[in-house]
Amino acid sequence: MKSRLLQSAILVGITLGLVVNCPAQGKETSAPGMSDKAVRDPKIAAALQQVSAARIQANIEKMVSFRTRSTLSAQDPASLAAGRGIGAAREWIKAEFERYSNDCGGCLEVKTDSFTEEPADRIPKPTQITNVYAVLKGTDAENTKRIVLVTGHYDSRNSDTLDTTGDAPGANDDGSGTAVSLESTRVLSRLKFPATIIFLAVAGEEQGLNGSHHFAKMAKEHGWQIEAVLNNDIVGGDKSAEQDHSVVRVFSEGLPAAATERDTSRIRGLGGENDSGSRQLARYIADVGRAYDVGVKPMLVFRLDRYLRGGDHYSFNQQGFSAVRFTEFREDFHHQHQNVRTEKGIEYGDLPKFVDFDYVARVARLNAAALASLASAPAPPADVHLLTKDLENDSTLTWTASPGGRAAEYEVLWRATTSPEWEHVQKVGNATHTTLKLSKDNVIFAVRAVDREGHRSLPVVPVPER
Ligand SMILES: [Zn+2]
Repeated sequence: MKSRLLQSAILVGITLGLVVNCPAQGKETSAPGMSDKAVRDPKIAAALQQVSAARIQANIEKMVSFRTRSTLSAQDPASLAAGRGIGAAREWIKAEFERYSNDCGGCLEVKTDSFTEEPADRIPKPTQITNVYAVLKGTDAENTKRIVLVTGHYDSRNSDTLDTTGDAPGANDDGSGTAVSLESTRVLSRLKFPATIIFLAVAGEEQGLNGSHHFAKMAKEHGWQIEAVLNNDIVGGDKSAEQDHSVVRVFSEGLPAAATERDTSRIRGLGGENDSGSRQLARYIADVGRAYDVGVKPMLVFRLDRYLRGGDHYSFNQQGFSAVRFTEFREDFHHQHQNVRTEKGIEYGDLPKFVDFDYVARVARLNAAALASLASAPAPPADVHLLTKDLENDSTLTWTASPGGRAAEYEVLWRATTSPEWEHVQKVGNATHTTLKLSKDNVIFAVRAVDREGHRSLPVVPVPER
């Protein structure tokens, strides 16, 4: 017991030492999450005010009106004319994107990514799957190729994954996520950003993530520079008694799905299992949540997804992109993947009456704030290294300038190896290296780029260099 106390005392001493011993060349901030310094851009804050719960409600009710959006449901001309089935839903989403584009003088490119999926586990015959998306091109020539993306799946299902005609309203799963993509498009298309934003609605999720798999693979093959993917799936804030409407969960992978043997070996050796790109994105969203008062708090969950469940962010993780999942705090499984019915007094089915549209609007504001912050920020610094050729107690970090020329300065972040979020930040000016009087053995570092207005890039954790 005594030695344990002693150990704690030493730990506290080390932690205090970190703050006291930090070098004097820059200003160091030490606050949980450093929210006091998080930049709040008035243009972004004003755009968030435009997010409308009434519009989100109308969009979710419209999606439910197609009766089923099963990926296997009808998409022939007659079903389109009748407004029933996934084909009709797809055409409506496309028309909405086009309407928003007309309202911003044609600022969006509205596109589809359509392919035929061959028979598989939950796909009995060759099936056409179509992802619909709108591109808000970045206005800066050097940064337009950088992409941030928001997605939800517009397909739905009931108790039977193979039911092609029975009602599958999918108000929460995932009318809510699709509504977040649509409403983010509407409010952000009125602004201009140096980097590109893609607003996506995918199909095939319930059959096996088919739509997102195809899209992410296409993005990888075309060399698209996707820096962040926000996947919203079940963000309806189901009105069950145990729901916490002040919280939205943000799931992020630890060990990256795309890690090579070499990556895994380094992660194992240095304790990097809590520092995937997706986890940096999750921490970034937590910071955005503190900077903008959107009325819902991101609750970081350090795992890929919930037990027994998966989602479209994983398709992007598999291709090496940073991607997270937003999901309401508590799910009601009577209201997901169920035929609409009442049994022993329990109502089953994913109906709009269980959705809290104000909650979806708050989640949409959080998403829009994160997208706008990332699309306004400079590219993250490149080739970030931590020099490890000598045994020494100082730590030297080097990097190359943020590509795209928008960085005005850089900041070094660090935290105790046991801490979930960044604890300290130090400005280091417009430099590409710095030495800190901190032992790399005791903390985890990262470097981020900051533009003239204070927009911050995603942080990059250094790789060791001998
Ligand atoms: Zn879903």
